[in-house]
Amino acid sequence: MARYVFITGGVVSSLGKGLASAALGALLQARGYTVRLRKLDPYLNVDPGTMSPFEHGEVFVTDDGAETDLDLGHYERFTGVSARKTDSVSSGRIYSNVLEKERRGDYLGKTIQVIPHVTNEIKDFLRQGEDEVDFMLCEIGGTVGDIEGLPFFEAIRQFAQERPRGQCIFMHLTLLPYLAASGELKTKPTQHSVKELRSIGLQPDVLVCRSEHPIPDKERAKIALFCNVRPDSVIPAYDLKSIYEAPLAYHRAGLDQAVLDAFMISPAPKPDLSRWTDVMDRLDNAEGEVRVAVVGKYTQLEDAYKSIAEALTHGGLANRVRVKAEWIDAEIFEREDPAPYLQDFQAILVPGGFGERGTEGKIKAAQFAREKGVPYLGICLGMQMAVIEAARNLAGVTRAGSEEFDHEAGEKRFEPVVYHLKEWVQGNHTVARKVGDDKGGTMRLGAYSAHLEPGSRVAEIYGTTDIEERHRHRYEVDVKYRDRLEAEGLRFSGMSPDGRLPEIVEVKDHPWFIGVQFHPELKSKPFAPHPLFRDFVRAAKDKERLV
Ligand code: GLN
Repeated sequence: MARYVFITGGVVSSLGKGLASAALGALLQARGYTVRLRKLDPYLNVDPGTMSPFEHGEVFVTDDGAETDLDLGHYERFTGVSARKTDSVSSGRIYSNVLEKERRGDYLGKTIQVIPHVTNEIKDFLRQGEDEVDFMLCEIGGTVGDIEGLPFFEAIRQFAQERPRGQCIFMHLTLLPYLAASGELKTKPTQHSVKELRSIGLQPDVLVCRSEHPIPDKERAKIALFCNVRPDSVIPAYDLKSIYEAPLAYHRAGLDQAVLDAFMISPAPKPDLSRWTDVMDRLDNAEGEVRVAVVGKYTQLEDAYKSIAEALTHGGLANRVRVKAEWIDAEIFEREDPAPYLQDFQAILVPGGFGERGTEGKIKAAQFAREKGVPYLGICLGMQMAVIEAARNLAGVTRAGSEEFDHEAGEKRFEPVVYHLKEWVQGNHTVARKVGDDKGGTMRLGAYSAHLEPGSRVAEIYGTTDIEERHRHRYEVDVKYRDRLEAEGLRFSGMSPDGRLPEIVEVKDHPWFIGVQFHPELKSKPFAPHPLFRDFVRAAKDKERLV
């Protein structure tokens, strides 16, 4: 039966709870344990699939097709453990399950209440897979005191009570603000946050204190005293130059030791941190820099393309080079020539996206990359735009476009080189969809296999002809244009196993031009960079001498 670590946050949001959880997962692994990480989000959306990337950052997709919070991406990048549907839940999902049961009559006429019905549903969620790992790390989204969060806090309190003693611990993240005027770190917000937790029956075992300044021993002792936590379980967490420093930094600060102490595991197994010292060595000793232009739509919020930014960093680690990604709003190229913006970059990436806005600019970026021999990686919408560009400018399909934009505009303007997919095969069954279906959870989602053409560039990069990658899209390149496009040098080098769905295209006589219908960035890890990102950065590095 797994031991449970519940991770909560206080004082302010965005303290890096997800990162602390992920780093703790990595450290427990380094000590030889198996782990699984989970996220419980108090918001009322059933899942983040319908939330705007501007508001909530990227939607992370799991192999089994769940649309989840971007923290699950951190969990995977730090532990290498593939997340599942059962690793992410929101209040919306919990309530919708409860209401479904109520309608079915499962509660036998009882009055449905937050306690016990909602809290039971949360506890059932927590218990899934409890026999599979040594440690289950469960992060509660939001901050203690949030109204929506209360059922989750109550559920973890009950859960810990129901388990044998010593099987669950609570870790709480807070902030120590610094007052420049008096030159002091203030502990009061942390005290209040712990007081709030204790008022709902939760006593933290480990306190992680974020601070921009060194925390003097005196303050640490004070926090321990006022918050009823052992002094060596008050863990300082300072700002880091890279998130990948977190496992080593938290280890130095004593986090994993404090957690094992709280479980009374003694002696603690010795950690093997070589995976993280190697990552840090590559980060610290990178030679030179390559600049990659990411031409997208959600450019104001960096979290909107979180996994892409990380996968580019991983590609840099593999090539021992720093990757500087710069985000350019695709709409600019609808008014202006892209050349002055793009000519100083060693590579261009067009990421995924939804809706027509900015797409003509992305098509211009793809054209620039193709004509000027600049390495190009098109992901999902970025592949679709590259195909439309080739159809228009090479194959003479002048009105080439995507049905997505016609559907959005409610009029037929394009020849649908990219069309709405209504039926596809998943494993051994067929999935069917209609235009106008609900938006939530109805895309082609999760891992699908693809077959790569032997001798193609992608087969060489992957070192195999059979791959599995994660998808999240509704529209698809129409295979009926294959012959016309291949005659013009756009090779369809990766296809779905039934040969119906184009998964990868590449431009034949080009240094590096690849479009993929899936999201390779979701599977990249710092200690195992994704082959496409590794080779894309290699091509960027080779393009010109390093700047
Ligand atoms: N909007 C496109 C589709 O639904 C691309 C989606 C994406 O880039 N993830 O097919």
